[in-house]
Amino acid sequence: MTHRIDLKNLTLPALEQFLQGQGKERFRALQVFKWIYQQDVANFEEMTNISKTLRTELATSAFISNLEPEAIEEGNDGTRKYLFNLADGHAVESVLIPIEGRNTLCISSQVGCAMACEFCLTGTFKLARNLTTAEIVNQIMAVKRDLATNPPAVQAELNDFDDDGDEGDSTSPAAIRNIVLMGMGEPLHNLDNVIPAIRIMIDGNGLQLSNRRVTVSTCGLVPEMERLGREIPNVNLAVSLNATTDDLRNRIMPVNRSYPIKALLQACSEFPLPGRRKVTFEYVLLGGVNDSLDDAKRLLRLISDIPNKVNLIPFNEHEGCEFRAPTRAAIDAFHKYLIDRHVTVITRDSRGGDISAACGQLKGKLGK
Ligand code: SAH
Repeated sequence: MTHRIDLKNLTLPALEQFLQGQGKERFRALQVFKWIYQQDVANFEEMTNISKTLRTELATSAFISNLEPEAIEEGNDGTRKYLFNLADGHAVESVLIPIEGRNTLCISSQVGCAMACEFCLTGTFKLARNLTTAEIVNQIMAVKRDLATNPPAVQAELNDFDDDGDEGDSTSPAAIRNIVLMGMGEPLHNLDNVIPAIRIMIDGNGLQLSNRRVTVSTCGLVPEMERLGREIPNVNLAVSLNATTDDLRNRIMPVNRSYPIKALLQACSEFPLPGRRKVTFEYVLLGGVNDSLDDAKRLLRLISDIPNKVNLIPFNEHEGCEFRAPTRAAIDAFHKYLIDRHVTVITRDSRGGDISAACGQLKGKLGK
Protein backbone atom coordinates (compact mmCIF):
# COMPACT_ATOMS: atom_id res chain seq x y z
CA MET A 1 0.00 0.00 0.00
CA THR A 2 1.20 3.50 -0.81
CA HIS A 3 1.98 6.03 1.86
CA ARG A 4 -1.17 8.05 2.47
CA ILE A 5 -0.97 11.79 2.89
CA ASP A 6 -2.78 13.68 5.66
CA LEU A 7 -4.86 16.28 3.84
CA LYS A 8 -4.92 18.49 6.93
CA ASN A 9 -1.26 19.24 6.27
CA LEU A 10 -2.21 21.00 3.03
CA THR A 11 -3.30 24.55 2.35
CA LEU A 12 -5.88 24.96 -0.39
CA PRO A 13 -3.25 25.63 -3.11
CA ALA A 14 -1.26 22.62 -1.89
CA LEU A 15 -4.38 20.48 -2.02
CA GLU A 16 -5.00 21.66 -5.58
CA GLN A 17 -1.49 20.62 -6.50
CA PHE A 18 -1.92 17.27 -4.82
CA LEU A 19 -5.11 16.53 -6.73
CA GLN A 20 -3.65 17.73 -10.00
CA GLY A 21 -0.71 15.43 -9.41
CA GLN A 22 -3.23 12.62 -9.16
CA GLY A 23 -4.72 13.64 -12.49
CA LYS A 24 -7.84 15.20 -10.95
CA GLU A 25 -9.56 18.47 -11.71
CA ARG A 26 -8.30 21.37 -9.68
CA PHE A 27 -11.72 22.55 -8.54
CA ARG A 28 -12.21 19.31 -6.63
CA ALA A 29 -9.75 20.67 -4.10
CA LEU A 30 -12.13 23.41 -3.03
CA GLN A 31 -14.90 20.89 -2.50
CA VAL A 32 -12.71 18.65 -0.40
CA PHE A 33 -11.28 21.60 1.55
CA LYS A 34 -14.76 22.79 2.45
CA TRP A 35 -15.82 19.34 3.55
CA ILE A 36 -12.82 19.17 5.83
CA TYR A 37 -12.94 22.60 7.44
CA GLN A 38 -16.54 23.73 7.12
CA GLN A 39 -18.31 20.41 7.59
CA ASP A 40 -15.62 18.81 9.74
CA VAL A 41 -15.84 15.61 7.71
CA ALA A 42 -13.02 13.10 8.13
CA ASN A 43 -14.41 10.35 5.94
CA PHE A 44 -14.32 10.59 2.15
CA GLU A 45 -17.56 8.59 1.93
CA GLU A 46 -19.45 11.57 3.39
CA MET A 47 -18.29 13.92 0.63
CA THR A 48 -21.48 13.49 -1.33
CA ASN A 49 -20.85 16.03 -4.09
CA ILE A 50 -17.77 14.08 -5.18
CA SER A 51 -17.98 11.04 -7.43
CA LYS A 52 -17.79 7.62 -5.88
CA THR A 53 -14.68 6.83 -7.94
CA LEU A 54 -12.80 9.85 -6.72
CA ARG A 55 -13.82 9.17 -3.13
CA THR A 56 -12.46 5.65 -3.38
CA GLU A 57 -9.24 6.85 -4.98
CA LEU A 58 -8.77 9.52 -2.33
CA ALA A 59 -9.19 6.96 0.41
CA THR A 60 -6.23 5.01 -0.96
CA SER A 61 -3.91 7.98 -1.39
CA ALA A 62 -4.94 10.23 1.48
CA PHE A 63 -6.55 10.46 4.90
CA ILE A 64 -7.93 13.17 7.17
CA SER A 65 -6.54 13.17 10.70
CA ASN A 66 -8.24 14.32 13.86
CA LEU A 67 -7.40 14.98 17.47
CA GLU A 68 -9.63 13.97 20.35
CA PRO A 69 -9.01 15.49 23.73
CA GLU A 70 -7.66 12.91 26.15
CA ALA A 71 -8.74 15.12 29.05
CA ILE A 72 -10.54 18.44 29.50
CA GLU A 73 -10.14 20.35 32.75
CA GLU A 74 -12.21 23.39 33.58
CA GLY A 75 -10.91 26.04 35.97
CA ASN A 76 -12.92 28.20 38.38
CA ASP A 77 -12.80 31.06 35.90
CA GLY A 78 -14.21 28.94 33.07
CA THR A 79 -10.82 28.43 31.42
CA ARG A 80 -10.62 25.02 29.79
CA LYS A 81 -7.42 23.09 29.31
CA TYR A 82 -7.36 20.36 26.69
CA LEU A 83 -4.81 17.58 26.66
CA PHE A 84 -4.28 16.00 23.26
CA ASN A 85 -2.48 12.73 22.72
CA LEU A 86 -0.64 12.68 19.42
CA ALA A 87 -0.26 9.64 17.19
CA ASP A 88 3.30 8.95 18.38
CA GLY A 89 2.48 9.09 22.09
CA HIS A 90 3.55 12.70 22.71
CA ALA A 91 0.97 15.11 24.04
CA VAL A 92 0.27 18.84 23.87
CA GLU A 93 -2.14 21.22 25.55
CA SER A 94 -4.44 23.98 24.35
CA VAL A 95 -6.24 26.49 26.54
CA LEU A 96 -9.63 28.07 25.90
CA ILE A 97 -10.34 31.41 27.52
CA PRO A 98 -14.09 31.87 27.24
CA ILE A 99 -15.65 35.29 26.98
CA GLU A 100 -19.11 35.76 25.54
CA GLY A 101 -18.78 36.14 21.78
CA ARG A 102 -15.03 36.53 22.09
CA ASN A 103 -13.61 33.14 22.92
CA THR A 104 -9.84 32.98 22.65
CA LEU A 105 -7.98 29.75 22.05
CA CYS A 106 -4.31 29.42 22.93
CA ILE A 107 -2.68 26.66 20.89
CA SER A 108 0.66 24.85 20.92
CA SER A 109 3.16 24.70 18.08
CA GLN A 110 5.76 22.24 19.36
CA VAL A 111 6.14 19.36 21.80
CA GLY A 112 8.48 20.94 24.34
CA CYS A 113 10.60 23.92 23.32
CA ALA A 114 14.23 24.55 22.42
CA MET A 115 14.36 28.15 23.60
CA ALA A 116 15.11 27.29 27.25
CA CYS A 117 13.76 30.48 28.84
CA GLU A 118 14.64 30.12 32.49
CA PHE A 119 11.24 31.01 33.92
CA CYS A 120 9.09 28.85 31.63
CA LEU A 121 8.00 25.34 32.53
CA THR A 122 7.59 24.22 28.91
CA GLY A 123 11.13 25.46 28.28
CA THR A 124 12.63 23.24 30.96
CA PHE A 125 11.85 20.26 28.72
CA LYS A 126 13.85 20.04 25.55
CA LEU A 127 12.23 20.14 22.17
CA ALA A 128 10.78 16.72 21.42
CA ARG A 129 9.49 17.66 17.98
CA ASN A 130 7.61 20.15 15.88
CA LEU A 131 3.87 19.83 15.53
CA THR A 132 2.65 19.19 12.01
CA THR A 133 0.31 21.63 10.30
CA ALA A 134 -2.47 19.10 10.83
CA GLU A 135 -1.78 18.88 14.56
CA ILE A 136 -1.91 22.65 14.84
CA VAL A 137 -5.25 23.07 13.05
CA ASN A 138 -6.66 19.96 14.71
CA GLN A 139 -6.36 21.60 18.13
CA ILE A 140 -8.74 24.29 16.90
CA MET A 141 -11.14 21.83 15.31
CA ALA A 142 -11.30 19.63 18.39
CA VAL A 143 -12.07 22.59 20.64
CA LYS A 144 -14.75 23.79 18.22
CA ARG A 145 -16.39 20.39 18.48
CA ASP A 146 -16.29 20.50 22.27
CA LEU A 147 -17.76 24.01 22.28
CA ALA A 148 -20.59 22.94 20.02
CA THR A 149 -21.75 20.28 22.45
CA ASN A 150 -20.68 21.99 25.64
CA PRO A 151 -20.78 25.79 25.30
CA PRO A 152 -19.07 27.62 28.14
CA ALA A 153 -20.87 29.39 30.92
CA VAL A 154 -19.63 32.74 29.70
CA GLN A 155 -17.35 35.11 31.53
CA ALA A 156 -17.75 38.84 31.43
CA GLU A 157 -14.19 39.90 32.05
CA LEU A 158 -12.03 41.73 29.58
CA ASN A 159 -10.06 39.47 27.33
CA ASP A 160 -6.59 40.78 26.79
CA PHE A 161 -6.36 39.40 23.27
CA ASP A 162 -9.50 41.18 22.26
CA ASP A 163 -9.11 44.66 23.58
CA ASP A 164 -9.70 46.60 20.40
CA GLY A 165 -13.07 47.84 21.58
CA ASP A 166 -15.06 46.08 18.87
CA GLU A 167 -18.31 44.49 19.83
CA GLY A 168 -18.18 40.72 19.76
CA ASP A 169 -19.11 39.89 16.18
CA SER A 170 -19.37 36.18 16.73
CA THR A 171 -22.56 36.00 18.68
CA SER A 172 -22.44 32.27 19.28
CA PRO A 173 -20.85 31.34 22.60
CA ALA A 174 -19.56 28.26 20.78
CA ALA A 175 -17.48 30.16 18.22
CA ILE A 176 -13.76 30.73 18.54
CA ARG A 177 -12.90 34.31 17.74
CA ASN A 178 -9.22 34.69 18.54
CA ILE A 179 -6.34 32.30 18.09
CA VAL A 180 -3.09 32.94 19.91
CA LEU A 181 0.00 30.83 19.29
CA MET A 182 1.10 31.15 22.89
CA GLY A 183 0.89 27.56 24.07
CA MET A 184 3.74 25.10 24.17
CA GLY A 185 6.65 25.80 21.87
CA GLU A 186 8.15 28.65 19.90
CA PRO A 187 5.97 29.10 16.80
CA LEU A 188 8.70 30.86 14.86
CA HIS A 189 10.95 27.85 15.40
CA ASN A 190 8.41 25.80 13.41
CA LEU A 191 7.42 28.22 10.66
CA ASP A 192 7.36 25.56 7.95
CA ASN A 193 4.32 24.06 9.63
CA VAL A 194 2.94 27.15 11.37
CA ILE A 195 2.62 29.22 8.19
CA PRO A 196 0.43 26.69 6.35
CA ALA A 197 -1.61 26.26 9.55
CA ILE A 198 -2.26 30.01 9.70
CA ARG A 199 -3.16 30.01 6.00
CA ILE A 200 -5.78 27.33 6.70
CA MET A 201 -7.08 29.29 9.72
CA ILE A 202 -7.60 32.49 7.75
CA ASP A 203 -8.75 30.94 4.47
CA GLY A 204 -12.31 32.02 3.71
CA ASN A 205 -12.95 28.45 2.60
CA GLY A 206 -11.06 27.01 5.55
CA LEU A 207 -11.50 27.86 9.22
CA GLN A 208 -12.65 31.35 8.24
CA LEU A 209 -10.91 33.23 11.02
CA SER A 210 -10.09 36.87 10.53
CA ASN A 211 -6.36 37.45 10.17
CA ARG A 212 -6.70 40.32 12.61
CA ARG A 213 -7.62 37.75 15.20
CA VAL A 214 -4.64 35.45 14.85
CA THR A 215 -1.64 36.32 17.02
CA VAL A 216 1.80 34.76 16.79
CA SER A 217 3.94 35.13 19.89
CA THR A 218 7.71 34.87 19.76
CA CYS A 219 10.63 35.01 22.14
CA GLY A 220 12.45 36.96 19.45
CA LEU A 221 13.79 34.91 16.55
CA VAL A 222 14.64 37.85 14.34
CA PRO A 223 15.16 36.21 10.90
CA GLU A 224 11.95 34.24 11.35
CA MET A 225 10.05 37.40 12.30
CA GLU A 226 11.11 38.78 8.94
CA ARG A 227 9.99 35.63 7.18
CA LEU A 228 6.61 35.61 8.92
CA GLY A 229 6.05 39.26 8.01
CA ARG A 230 6.94 38.54 4.41
CA GLU A 231 4.75 35.46 4.05
CA ILE A 232 1.74 36.46 6.17
CA PRO A 233 1.88 40.22 6.53
CA ASN A 234 -1.45 40.68 8.27
CA VAL A 235 -1.06 38.49 11.30
CA ASN A 236 -0.68 40.01 14.77
CA LEU A 237 2.71 39.90 16.38
CA ALA A 238 3.39 39.47 20.08
CA VAL A 239 6.92 39.58 21.42
CA SER A 240 7.94 38.20 24.80
CA LEU A 241 10.36 40.93 25.83
CA ASN A 242 10.52 40.20 29.56
CA ALA A 243 13.66 42.20 30.26
CA THR A 244 14.90 45.71 29.52
CA THR A 245 18.66 45.14 29.54
CA ASP A 246 20.69 42.68 27.47
CA ASP A 247 22.43 41.56 30.67
CA LEU A 248 19.25 40.30 32.24
CA ARG A 249 17.69 39.12 28.99
CA ASN A 250 20.79 37.09 28.12
CA ARG A 251 20.47 35.40 31.46
CA ILE A 252 16.77 34.54 31.44
CA MET A 253 16.25 34.12 27.67
CA PRO A 254 19.19 32.49 25.87
CA VAL A 255 17.75 33.59 22.49
CA ASN A 256 18.88 37.11 23.38
CA ARG A 257 22.53 36.07 22.99
CA SER A 258 21.84 35.60 19.27
CA TYR A 259 19.34 38.43 18.81
CA PRO A 260 19.86 41.17 21.37
CA ILE A 261 17.20 43.70 22.30
CA LYS A 262 18.23 46.27 19.71
CA ALA A 263 17.98 43.81 16.82
CA LEU A 264 14.69 42.50 18.18
CA LEU A 265 13.14 45.97 18.38
CA GLN A 266 14.40 46.77 14.91
CA ALA A 267 12.61 43.67 13.60
CA CYS A 268 9.46 44.75 15.45
CA SER A 269 9.48 48.17 13.87
CA GLU A 270 9.95 46.62 10.43
CA PHE A 271 7.17 44.07 10.89
CA PRO A 272 4.38 44.84 8.41
CA LEU A 273 1.33 45.58 10.54
CA PRO A 274 -1.59 47.11 8.69
CA GLY A 275 -3.42 50.24 9.74
CA ARG A 276 -3.46 51.08 13.37
CA ARG A 277 -2.48 47.68 14.65
CA LYS A 278 0.18 47.42 17.32
CA VAL A 279 2.87 45.01 18.38
CA THR A 280 2.02 43.38 21.70
CA PHE A 281 4.94 43.31 24.10
CA GLU A 282 4.58 40.59 26.68
CA TYR A 283 6.43 41.21 29.88
CA VAL A 284 6.58 38.53 32.56
CA LEU A 285 6.94 40.27 35.92
CA LEU A 286 9.50 38.34 37.96
CA GLY A 287 9.43 39.38 41.63
CA GLY A 288 12.53 41.42 42.52
CA VAL A 289 14.15 40.70 39.14
CA ASN A 290 12.53 42.91 36.49
CA ASP A 291 9.56 44.51 38.24
CA SER A 292 10.98 47.82 39.50
CA LEU A 293 9.99 51.27 38.30
CA ASP A 294 13.41 51.57 36.67
CA ASP A 295 12.46 48.56 34.57
CA ALA A 296 9.14 50.17 33.70
CA LYS A 297 10.96 53.32 32.69
CA ARG A 298 13.42 51.45 30.48
CA LEU A 299 10.62 49.40 28.98
CA LEU A 300 8.77 52.53 27.97
CA ARG A 301 11.90 54.01 26.43
CA LEU A 302 12.62 50.83 24.46
CA ILE A 303 9.21 50.44 22.87
CA SER A 304 8.06 54.01 22.46
CA ASP A 305 9.06 54.27 18.79
CA ILE A 306 6.99 51.21 17.89
CA PRO A 307 3.16 51.21 17.85
CA ASN A 308 2.74 49.11 20.96
CA LYS A 309 0.60 47.66 23.64
CA VAL A 310 1.88 45.90 26.71
CA ASN A 311 0.74 42.68 28.34
CA LEU A 312 2.05 42.35 31.87
CA ILE A 313 2.06 38.74 33.03
CA PRO A 314 2.72 38.25 36.73
CA PHE A 315 5.05 35.27 36.96
CA ASN A 316 3.25 32.00 37.62
CA GLU A 317 5.34 29.98 40.02
CA HIS A 318 6.11 26.36 39.33
CA GLU A 319 8.07 23.73 41.15
CA GLY A 320 11.81 23.73 40.69
CA CYS A 321 11.93 27.32 39.47
CA GLU A 322 13.82 29.88 41.51
CA PHE A 323 11.77 32.89 40.41
CA ARG A 324 9.00 34.33 42.53
CA ALA A 325 5.75 36.06 41.70
CA PRO A 326 5.83 39.85 41.99
CA THR A 327 3.99 41.52 44.87
CA ARG A 328 0.61 43.09 44.20
CA ALA A 329 2.17 46.46 44.95
CA ALA A 330 4.94 45.95 42.37
CA ILE A 331 2.41 44.86 39.72
CA ASP A 332 0.18 47.85 40.39
CA ALA A 333 3.05 50.34 40.41
CA PHE A 334 4.48 48.97 37.15
CA HIS A 335 1.05 49.01 35.52
CA LYS A 336 0.31 52.53 36.75
CA TYR A 337 3.66 53.87 35.54
CA LEU A 338 2.80 52.79 32.00
CA ILE A 339 -0.88 53.80 32.08
CA ASP A 340 0.04 57.25 33.34
CA ARG A 341 2.21 57.62 30.26
CA HIS A 342 -0.62 56.62 27.94
CA VAL A 343 0.58 53.13 27.14
CA THR A 344 -2.16 50.60 26.42
CA VAL A 345 -1.43 48.05 29.08
CA ILE A 346 -3.25 45.01 30.35
CA THR A 347 -2.16 42.98 33.31
CA ARG A 348 -3.07 39.42 32.55
CA ASP A 349 -4.85 37.93 35.48
CA SER A 350 -3.68 34.44 36.13
CA ARG A 351 -6.28 32.66 34.12
CA GLY A 352 -6.55 28.96 34.60
CA GLY A 353 -3.98 28.95 37.41
CA ASP A 354 -5.95 26.39 39.38
CA ILE A 355 -5.68 23.89 36.52
CA SER A 356 -2.09 24.73 35.54
CA ALA A 357 -3.30 26.32 32.33
CA ALA A 358 -1.71 29.72 32.90
CA CYS A 359 1.20 31.16 30.92
CA GLY A 360 4.34 29.10 31.24
CA GLN A 361 2.58 26.20 32.95
CA LEU A 362 1.85 23.95 29.96
CA LYS A 363 3.77 20.75 29.60
CA GLY A 364 1.55 18.14 27.96
CA LYS A 365 2.85 14.93 29.45
CA LEU A 366 6.49 15.97 29.41
CA GLY A 367 8.34 15.06 32.55
CA LYS A 368 5.31 13.39 34.04
N1 SAH B 1 7.54 30.87 22.64
C1 SAH B 1 6.58 31.92 22.42
C2 SAH B 1 5.18 31.46 22.69
C3 SAH B 1 4.90 31.09 24.14
S1 SAH B 1 3.96 32.36 24.80
C4 SAH B 1 6.96 33.14 23.21
O1 SAH B 1 7.92 33.08 23.97
O2 SAH B 1 6.36 34.19 23.04
C5 SAH B 1 4.07 32.06 26.47
C6 SAH B 1 4.20 33.38 27.25
O3 SAH B 1 4.22 33.05 28.64
C7 SAH B 1 5.49 34.11 26.95
O4 SAH B 1 5.24 35.49 26.90
C8 SAH B 1 6.34 33.79 28.17
O5 SAH B 1 7.27 34.82 28.41
C9 SAH B 1 5.31 33.67 29.26
N2 SAH B 1 5.70 32.81 30.37
C10 SAH B 1 6.49 31.73 30.32
N3 SAH B 1 6.59 31.20 31.55
C11 SAH B 1 5.84 31.94 32.37
C12 SAH B 1 5.53 31.87 33.75
N4 SAH B 1 6.02 30.90 34.52
N5 SAH B 1 4.72 32.80 34.27
C13 SAH B 1 4.19 33.76 33.49
N6 SAH B 1 4.42 33.87 32.17
C14 SAH B 1 5.25 32.98 31.62
